[in-house]
Amino acid sequence: MASRAFGCLLRLLFTVAAAATAGTALPAGLVPQESRVPGGIALVELPPSTEAPVVTYESRRVTVIQEGRQWKAVVGIPLATEPSTQTLSVATAQGQRKISFRVNDKHYRTQRITVKDERQVTPNADDLARIERERGHIEAALNSYSQARSPQFKFIQPVAGTRQPTFGFRRIFNGQPRNPHTGMDIAAARGVPIKAPADGEVVEAGNFFFNGNSVFINHGQGLVTMYCHLDRIDVKSGQQVKAGEVLGLVGSTGRATGPHLHWGVALNRAMVDPALFLVQP
Ligand code: ZN
Repeated sequence: MASRAFGCLLRLLFTVAAAATAGTALPAGLVPQESRVPGGIALVELPPSTEAPVVTYESRRVTVIQEGRQWKAVVGIPLATEPSTQTLSVATAQGQRKISFRVNDKHYRTQRITVKDERQVTPNADDLARIERERGHIEAALNSYSQARSPQFKFIQPVAGTRQPTFGFRRIFNGQPRNPHTGMDIAAARGVPIKAPADGEVVEAGNFFFNGNSVFINHGQGLVTMYCHLDRIDVKSGQQVKAGEVLGLVGSTGRATGPHLHWGVALNRAMVDPALFLVQP
């Protein structure tokens, strides 16, 4: 298996926009799959309530789903989380309470990657200024939150190609430790169309130092997806897209060792394994 890997930054903080109500009805047995590990998703049962409970985790609003009369929080678990008991704040008409859940351990492999352009590993001063500017745009995009838009959790795979099981890998570029790999890589030839996995709004589209040509989609209630290293971008910020609509073409712009799609999924700002949103082949 050729390992390919790549850039995608991240990790910071944000404060959540608040308010509002409705949850998403989700038939039993569908995605997202649960995986209570760093980079996974916890589906946490909530107290009975006629209205959708308002749930926060690490100050971030968490989306909820309803299965019959049962509400569940759909919680993204940050990759940096240590195995431990985590706590949700839950507000219902009956009042406020804390609900805890356990995050289990998961070992992620270490991957060593060689890139030709040393500046992609050790950026110069101008690059660092650019990276800092771009970080703000990336954070704003990943922090997008629309309460009124109910997210679809069952995704179509955005590119026909081979999924590389590299989510969560700790990475060493040209001998130097860098951020872990926070998305899924899908190997595909340059020029293959990339499709939106679900309905949403394009909240950022442009060129970034590490991620190359990138598109970010807000699917609602803290579910945001990103597409990196595109050869060409075919959408604009503010554009509404439907599942299956073409976002652009596979390429190798930014810190990439060859053409592929880097696909990231953020849930309550935690980068989680995109595979949890796909029906397993
Ligand atoms: Zn990647």
